Amino acid sequence: LETRTQAWPDEAACQQSAALLAARPALRRAFVELHGTLGAGKTTFARHLLQALGVTGRIKSPTYAVMEAYPLEGFTAWHFDFYRFNDPQEFEDAGFRDVFASQGLKLAEWPEKAEGLLPEPDLRMELVPLDGDERRVTFTACTPLGQELLP
Ligand code: ADP
Ligand code: MG
Repeated sequence: LETRTQAWPDEAACQQSAALLAARPALRRAFVELHGTLGAGKTTFARHLLQALGVTGRIKSPTYAVMEAYPLEGFTAWHFDFYRFNDPQEFEDAGFRDVFASQGLKLAEWPEKAEGLLPEPDLRMELVPLDGDERRVTFTACTPLGQELLP
C-alpha cells in the first residue's frame, strides 16, 4: 500500500488539498474513507471537496441522515457519516449497498462504524489534529484507482 503524508497548517491548506483531489478524474468513481477523531476536519474536508466539485448551497453534515446525495454534472457524489449508524439492516433498506456498488464519488466519515458492510476503499485518509489548526494527513491508496488519487 502506497502512502503520502501532508501537513495542513490551517484550513486554507485543507481547502487547497481538496481542490487538487477534486481535479482528478478518477475521483468521480472512487470510494474515499475519512478517518480521524471528532473535530479532526473530516466534514470540513468533505465540504471543500464537494464545493470544488461544483456543489453550491449548504452542505450539511450527514450525522443525522447518515447520507447526503449531491447530483453533479455527469456523476453523483454521496457523503456518508456513519457515526450514529448501528443498524446493519438499514444498509440494505436505505439503499446504501446499491450506492457503494455504483459509479460516482462515495465519501465516508466513521467508516469503522459500518465495518463488514462497506467495500474496500480506493483511498483512505487519516486526519490527525496537531497544535492549533495544524493537521497531519496520511493518504493510503488501497486500489489501483486509489493510486491515481494520491497527492
Ligand atoms: P470532523 O468531521 O472530523 O468531526 P469537522 O470538520 O466537523 O470535524 O470540524 C473541524 C473543525 O476544525 C472545523 O471547525 C474547522 O473549521 C476546523 N479546522 C481548523 N483547522 C483546520 C484544518 N487545518 N483542516 C480542517 N479543519 C480545520
Ligand atoms: Mg464530521
